[in-house]
Amino acid sequence: MATPPFQENPYQQPVHPGAPQQPAYPTEPPQVRPQSGRSQRMSESSLRLVWVYPDLLSTYGDRGNALVVERRARQRGLNVQRIDVRSDQAVPTSGDIYLIGGGEDRPQRLAAERLAADQGLVRAAENGAIIFSVCAGYQILGHEFLNDRGERQPGLGLLDVWTGRGEGARCVGDVLAETDPQLNLPQLTGFENHQGVTHLGQGVKPLAQVQVGRGNGTGDGTEGAWRDTIFGTYLHGPVMARNPAVADMLIKLALDVNALPPADTTWYDALRAERISATRQPA
Ligand code: GLN
Repeated sequence: MATPPFQENPYQQPVHPGAPQQPAYPTEPPQVRPQSGRSQRMSESSLRLVWVYPDLLSTYGDRGNALVVERRARQRGLNVQRIDVRSDQAVPTSGDIYLIGGGEDRPQRLAAERLAADQGLVRAAENGAIIFSVCAGYQILGHEFLNDRGERQPGLGLLDVWTGRGEGARCVGDVLAETDPQLNLPQLTGFENHQGVTHLGQGVKPLAQVQVGRGNGTGDGTEGAWRDTIFGTYLHGPVMARNPAVADMLIKLALDVNALPPADTTWYDALRAERISATRQPA
């Protein structure tokens, strides 16, 4: 499939209204079919990497996540078909890995409306796809978030989380976090900038615990959320460039393997070392 040209976000940053009460949600997330047939599909063709709505959701270089996942897969000799899906296009349902980035409040509302109307990402989740979301994208995957009009807007319900608006200052700055040991990932480094505060239900686990920074902003030290093959984080950076092990994790899930052939990480390691050291310095 031809890749449509990437365009800059045409929308303006809106004014933030106040936050309403938090609702209660059922603790069980929607059922996602167990993964099956992914490695078979992969061996037949190529890794289908879908970058969702570059025209609305790509703040702080989150598009770099697609570049890094593509590069890490190619370094392992995989054929990669990268599909950039603009918000006026249907989201394909047969992708292997879906990436969705951050955005300002108005584009976030528009993206959530279009994704809900389209349902392609929901169908992909039902097919067992891997979905990695950042900031606004993460909020959209939840049950609901508070939009730029101060309304409680439904999300896709793929993660058992919901997002309100923090009363205090925006969460801005570099983050260091220890990931859930089950994911077997090194320390996460990233950059956060959000007003949203995300509450986790029983149907997800925190992606990480912050050592420096705010993460979900709830004050409990949690950062991001995950279940099965669906992940959400507040970390930009882009997060894959600072943490190539996260990109490798997604590729391993897509291939249904426990390990990948080694691939050079010299530049990633230099960036990691620089940011981790800078983050530890007092401001
Ligand atoms: N608009 C959302 C918030 O401020 C997400 C911001 C972002 O994606 N960086 O919470």
